[in-house]
Amino acid sequence: MSPQTDQATRRAGAILTVDLGAIAANWRGLRDAGRADGKPVDCAAVLKADAYGTGATIVGPRLAREGCRQFFVAHIEEAIALRGVVPEHPIYVLNGLLPGSEPDFAEYGLTPVLNHLGQLNAWRAAAQRYNRPLDAVIHIDTGMHRLGFSPEEAQALASDRGRLRGLRLALLMSHLVVSEDPANPINGEQLSRFRSFVRTMPGAPASLANSSGIFLGPDYHFDLLRPGAALYGINPLPGQPNPMLTTVTLHARILQVRRIDALQTVGYGAAWRSARPSRVATIALGYADGYFRTLINRTHVHLGGHKVPVIGRISMDLVTVDVTDVPEPESQTGALVEVLGPHLTADDLAEHARTNAYEVMTALGRRYARVYTDTEHAP
Ligand SMILES: *Cc1c(COP(=O)(O)O)cnc(C)c1O
Repeated sequence: MSPQTDQATRRAGAILTVDLGAIAANWRGLRDAGRADGKPVDCAAVLKADAYGTGATIVGPRLAREGCRQFFVAHIEEAIALRGVVPEHPIYVLNGLLPGSEPDFAEYGLTPVLNHLGQLNAWRAAAQRYNRPLDAVIHIDTGMHRLGFSPEEAQALASDRGRLRGLRLALLMSHLVVSEDPANPINGEQLSRFRSFVRTMPGAPASLANSSGIFLGPDYHFDLLRPGAALYGINPLPGQPNPMLTTVTLHARILQVRRIDALQTVGYGAAWRSARPSRVATIALGYADGYFRTLINRTHVHLGGHKVPVIGRISMDLVTVDVTDVPEPESQTGALVEVLGPHLTADDLAEHARTNAYEVMTALGRRYARVYTDTEHAP
């Protein structure tokens, strides 16, 4: 730990620890799942929303060192920040090419994911203006009905490859709607639509599978896997044991402990009432840090092997927990409680908050002191 992080963690109310080694091990595991088919399937990394809250400009270079050579983000600003630390490899911008942003894409060597014919035409015109070939990704909508070429536009492109003149087709891609539900027939329908399109564009590499899509089997792998969530430890197989390593641990500090009598209320709205004389600890995080208000009276934290209930409303900067059953020496001011980690994963907390782990991770607070570790994990 550097002296700066040491100082920051000593005085911090809450500390987020990100294990880069675990993210790297998750990436290797997903890459190897693709390679198990015997085909040369490559594995990208999706680093949008600050690498799902873990820190894109730190995770990106770490994965590049691990052998990852293609990166996806949502916004061009994310891509420009990543370009500063990942100088060599393609960075694809999923949200596409906004009018007027062509010079920025060209300047930073970024690749737009072209989501309709208008974007394709604009990018081709840019290639002409700059008088050099530009890389392009074509995104086909096979059922999400959000971004991507419509079936008619895809048809128009397939029947006139001249529309790509001046561009180098880096990738054909589409995105799955319900990949976490293998029994859903929409998966197969999207697969067959994507296959038909890929056949009309021979020679271009193709990509369909997000994290859960990888586990739908080799038919879904094509040339490039596109995981986000699973890299960060989110379970790609809901309802089954999580094959991924946990990558984040969140600790919050006890700021104050007080004794209350039976039948006293705690926090805003008097939303929790003690059934017995109790010890209440107040810890240093709140909804402003992504600890959702929907967690009211519904989750717990861990302290020295004890499961400690969260009680009352979540405040902006504070959460109250019932430490009555924890021995006093373990539950004093300054002690760190585990809010997220091996005992309670982002998937668990998401269930308590009635959301998904993606939202829990991407909401991780900006006020936490951040510590990066790089643990070696088995291959
Ligand atoms: C976010 C995203 C991914 C990654 O999805 P995960 O479920 O997080 O693995 C892949 N492709 C596209 C187009 C995305 O928007």
